This record gives sequence, structure tokens and C-alpha cells, in this order.
Amino acid sequence: MIQDKRTDPDFDLGSFDEPQRFKAVTRTNVAATPEWESLDPDLREGLEVVSAVLPFRTNKYVMEELIDWNAVPDDPIFRLTFPHRDMLSVEQFDRIKSLMAAGDKPQLDAAVREIQLELNPHPAGQMTHNVPTVNGEPVPGIQHKYDQTTLFFPAHGQTCHAYCTFCFRWAQFVGLDDMKFANKDVDQLAGYLREHPEITDVLFTGGDPMVMKSKIFARYIDRILEDPDLAHVQTIRIGTKSVAYWPQRFVTDADAEEMLDIFRRIIASGRTVAIMGHYSHPVELSTPIAQEAVRRIRGTGANIRMQSPLIRHVNDDPEIWTELWNTGVRLGCIPYYFFVERDTGARGYFETPLEQCHQIFAEAFQKVSGLGRTVRGPSMSAFPGKVHILGVRDVGGEKAFVLEYLQCRRGELVRRPFFAKFDPKATWFDMLEPLTDADKPFFPGYWPDAMDETPGTVPLTVGAAT
Ligand SMILES: *Cc1c(COP(=O)(O)O)cnc(C)c1O
Ligand code: SF4
Repeated sequence: MIQDKRTDPDFDLGSFDEPQRFKAVTRTNVAATPEWESLDPDLREGLEVVSAVLPFRTNKYVMEELIDWNAVPDDPIFRLTFPHRDMLSVEQFDRIKSLMAAGDKPQLDAAVREIQLELNPHPAGQMTHNVPTVNGEPVPGIQHKYDQTTLFFPAHGQTCHAYCTFCFRWAQFVGLDDMKFANKDVDQLAGYLREHPEITDVLFTGGDPMVMKSKIFARYIDRILEDPDLAHVQTIRIGTKSVAYWPQRFVTDADAEEMLDIFRRIIASGRTVAIMGHYSHPVELSTPIAQEAVRRIRGTGANIRMQSPLIRHVNDDPEIWTELWNTGVRLGCIPYYFFVERDTGARGYFETPLEQCHQIFAEAFQKVSGLGRTVRGPSMSAFPGKVHILGVRDVGGEKAFVLEYLQCRRGELVRRPFFAKFDPKATWFDMLEPLTDADKPFFPGYWPDAMDETPGTVPLTVGAAT
């Protein structure tokens, strides 16, 4: 069990008189932190080399309050924010290490780029398939994959209070994407929404939109609230890890109250605010300020939903999830998604076979009450959609994964169970194959107009599979 600091008799809920200033810790200043001295030289070298390729950023709060330095390197939040040598292959690591030692900057930069491009920086067709067009022109900063929900990447929200080492959006933090994802054009967002009355939810995402100043965030929100043609937008969702990495955002930051006021304004307009809180481990909810952030956000009328992938070395243990969901529910949060780690970046370091993901999920799920069972998973955000692993079964003498789509580019496939051949080593949907002919329509390789996949030959009929 994580020590819950609320049970400390000296702790007075609501006393946050001395605001902490946000201090980022990166490659350039980590060696100046007191914790650096205590790190094993091997871990230091790993960090120095890997952070040349993958992004590294943490902060003082994460280091001082969430990481237990006596448990390093196995401490979960250390693993979550400090790059480790095993995130690169031995060849990649040695190559960067020797170029760093040689001090040859042009060669080093070239090698770094080459390795970054080897790490599948753009999974699930994000850059090619979800970016909408208006009058034939792509609209940067908007992704629209599923009818009801559109993602918006505000230009000012493309960083985070700390970076997760497994992050699937890491490419934008190392300058690979050149901010092509981002948009600061409030009118473009409003224009797109006006043309799409099917959109009920706008999901602000990033990076982390909560790194934005409240005043800048208000520009986007007020534009939506003031437009009479946008009544169909009923939910503003905010995907954020700030609730874990910098809960001060909602408590002691100079514009914390202004942000909470924005939530109140959205709610007063008859809409809902859903904070999609990225919580990976119960320790993130153990500090007084993290709990106070939840209390203040909920005090505005906003909901907090909890989601995270399963990350090896961080939360690959059912007890961690049981505790996370129980703690969240006790504080009034709603467990939402349990994801499978995506096929990008240091995936070899973090990924877990699908069967094991399901076992961990099921074991954790069995130990929480119905209020915690709002969580759905394991779910893979793959190219065709969100694929839910329901379990492993014997089907006519053959072992198979039982799957369903929770979201799909082809909406008519959602919530129809289908089977894939069992594969104990599979870690992602594209490693799976249909069990029978009746399962083929669920696999994008067989879709007749299969976007960028091999054109299939099987007509899309799902009747047999219902
Ligand atoms: C997950 C996701 C959404 C939101 O889906 P919900 O099931 O409504 O939470 C929207 N767009 C993309 C691209 C997603 O991956
Ligand atoms: S908070 Fe989200 S976007 Fe930011 S590094 Fe972590 S996973 Fe990536």
C-alpha cells in the first residue's frame, strides 16, 4: 500500500499557502540536482546517452514527492520519467555513446535522427489518416477519426510538465514533427466544428493542454461557447497528465483559479467538462496537493476520468491497478481506459504480451467494486480503431483471442465480438490474424477500400459475426 499522506495528523487539507514554483529538470540541468549524486554511474550514463535520442523532462515535484530514491532504479515514477539504457538497442546505444565521446556534432545529430526514424515515430496513421481537410486543404492541429469526438492540438499545449518515457507522441518533443500537429487558429477550429454537426465532443490534447496559461486556453473555449452554431458541442474534454505531474496547476499556480473558472463557464453553458486524467500509478494520487487538485476540479462540476496504458516496469502488476482505481473512486474519479502500450519509441522496453495485459487487467478488475468497473481494457488504439481484448478462449479446439472494437473507422463494426488466432508473443493488433473467414472483415488488411493497407478481397459483411 502507498502511504496516504492524508492520514498524517499534521496535514491540514486546504493549507497550500506557499505556492511551489514549477521547475523543469532536463538534460541540461539534471546533474545539478541533489538526487543526481546518489545515482549509480551506469544509470547516469544511460540517461545521458538515451536522452540524446528520446525526450527527457521531469520536474522538482515529481523528483521530490513522487519518486522514492531509495527504490531507484525500480521506483515506478523513476522508470516513468527517467530514460534507461535498455530503451535503445545495444548497437544504437554504443553508436550514440561513441559519437558523443568523439564530440562530432554533425555526425551525432545525423545518427540521432536516423535512430529516431527507426523507432516508428508516427504510429496508427496519425499524420496521414486522421487529419481532416477543409476545401481540400489539410487542417493542422485537428484529428478526426471517430464521428463524435475530434481531437484538437492547441499550439501552446505541445509540451508536458514532465515526459513519460513510453510516450507515443515523443516525436513532437524531439522536433521531428515540426509542430505540424499544432494549431493556434481559433477560427479554424470553430469553422471545422460548424461544418460537422455530428461532433459532440472536442478533446483538447497535446502534449498537455494544461501547460497553457488560462488566458490562452480561454480564447479557444470562449470561441466555442459564444458561437450559436456550435450548440452540438456538448462536451469539452481535456487530456492531461498535469493532475499527476503538476497538480499545482489547479491549486496554487497564479492562474489556477482562472482555469477552474473556465470549467465553471463551460458547465454554466449547459455542457460537460471531462478531465481525461492520465494516472499511471497510485503514488500519483497519494500527495495532499494531488488530492486537493481532484477536489477543486470536481468542485467546479467537472468530472475526472482516469486512463493510462499498462507500462512494463511501472504498473505491470494487478495490485497497482486495483489500488489506483480504488483510490480514484474514493476521491470521486471515474476509471475509463486501460490501454496497451503503443507500437512506437522504446516499445521493446515497455511492451507486454497481450495475453499478459489481459491477465493483469482481469485480476485487477475482479478486485474492485462496480464503481471501479467503468474501466474498459485492455484497449489498443490501433490503425483501424480501439480494439478491446475480451479474453482468450478455446474456439472449436483452437486457442483464440476474443476481441471487439470500442471505436472503429468503420462504425458498424463496433461492439461485435470477433476472434483472432492466439499468439503468446503478440504485443499489438497488427501481429494478429483472423481465426476464421468470418473474422476477416474486422481486419483492415481485408477491407475492400483498405486505406493504405493491401487491397482486400473479402466483402465487408459482418452478419455472420454478430
Ligand atoms: C480514443 C480516441 C478518441 C476518444 O474516444 P472515446 O472512446 O470517445 O474516449 C478520439 N479520437 C482518437 C483518435 C482516439 O484515439
Ligand atoms: S503526459 Fe502524455 S503527452 Fe506528455 S509525455 Fe506523458 S504520455 Fe506523452
